[in-house]
Amino acid sequence: MQKLKEAARIIQFADFAIALTGAGISVESGIPAFRGAQGLWQKYDPFEYAHIEAFVHHPAKVWEMLRELDLIMQKARPNPAHLVLAAWERENYLKAIITQNVDNLHQAAGSKNVIEFHGNAFRLRCLKCDRIYARDEIDLTQSVPLCPCGGLLKPDVVFFGENIPIEALLEAKAAVNACDVMLVVGTSAEVAPANTFPWEAKKHGAKIIEININPTVLTEEVTDIFLEGRASEVLTQLAQLL
Ligand code: NAD
Ligand code: ZN
Repeated sequence: MQKLKEAARIIQFADFAIALTGAGISVESGIPAFRGAQGLWQKYDPFEYAHIEAFVHHPAKVWEMLRELDLIMQKARPNPAHLVLAAWERENYLKAIITQNVDNLHQAAGSKNVIEFHGNAFRLRCLKCDRIYARDEIDLTQSVPLCPCGGLLKPDVVFFGENIPIEALLEAKAAVNACDVMLVVGTSAEVAPANTFPWEAKKHGAKIIEININPTVLTEEVTDIFLEGRASEVLTQLAQLL
């Protein structure tokens, strides 16, 4: 309780608080995380299926996995953790969210300033002409969805072997440099370069508040306050203290 109160006080008096979120925040919405997960990721090794080379060379095979993922994402709804972060933006406690998730749940919860560090699965991009389509514009039952130009359509998410979109990278860096508080929620902090942000923030004196069901590589090294528990529960408790 003491730690929760201290974290709430830090958020309340922050000048520029931001959140860095990962797959863990969406687990309670029914989307499994990569690590320590069940279901989809046991069937499909994400490092094999989510690599750009795999997609380009075996699009039909990768689209089988993508269709299953799409079904899961279509059904998912924001959980209380997403809703609390959206409310904090409206109440001016939170300035931005840098998310590694591609599930659109922060936006669905009402958050506006969401930096999509790994893209968004509700858009598709043509690998040949770069045209962007909304997911609903495309018939995903085709074994390999194609653009009218003949190019392969790929979810507009960052696969292994691809670069972070430059705009997201610049926006994220600016937010990290400006922040005096960073909430790190549901990320194992094992995927670069997003996992460098807590270290960067800490370097210029920001307070790091971490929420996770398990300690991570950050917990001992950079985290100031570790709040162990499910994102929805911990964030709801924090919100009640603000
Ligand atoms: P990760 O799978 O590496 O780690 C998830 C973390 O969440 C773990 O540390 C775990 O202990 C924690 N966690 C699990 N359930 C939780 C809960 N209820 N509350 C709080 N914490 C919980 O996820 P990552 O660090 O985001 O990296 C995986 C990569 O895969 C990301 O880059 C992301 O783009 C992608 N991914 C996205 C989604 C999504 O969009 N929802 C889902 C899976 C993977
Ligand atoms: Zn095209």
